This record gives sequence, C-alpha cells and structure tokens, in this order.
Amino acid sequence: MKQFDDFSAQTLYCPNCKQANPVRKHLLLVLPNGNIYDYRCAKCGKSLGTQIDTNSGPNPDFH
Ligand SMILES: [Zn+2]
Repeated sequence: MKQFDDFSAQTLYCPNCKQANPVRKHLLLVLPNGNIYDYRCAKCGKSLGTQIDTNSGPNPDFH
C-alpha cells in the first residue's frame, strides 16, 4: 500500500546520530489486534521506538 511508504518516510530524533533522521519500519510482532512495528534510524539502524498498528481502521494512531 502506498500509504505505508509515506509512513516510513517520517523522521525521529536519533540519539546515536544526534539528529532527526528518517526511520525505517520493521515488523516486530504480529498480535491478534494489530502489529507491533519497530522504528529504526535509517542511517545507523538504532531502534528509536515501537508502534502498534491496529487493524481497526485505515488510519493508524500515530502522532
Ligand atoms: Zn541514527
């Protein structure tokens, strides 16, 4: 889906690089009510956080 490309294009602050970098989204766990994704720095690969995407709607609750 196209919208997931846009999702992975967002940036997060990376303490390792000491700057905001684009993040890559990796599927971490599959749950009955959604998937847990690991967001990693696109430059150094450090994990910057996880996000649960529920399957309940077209727009994941991501801020
Ligand atoms: Zn980094």
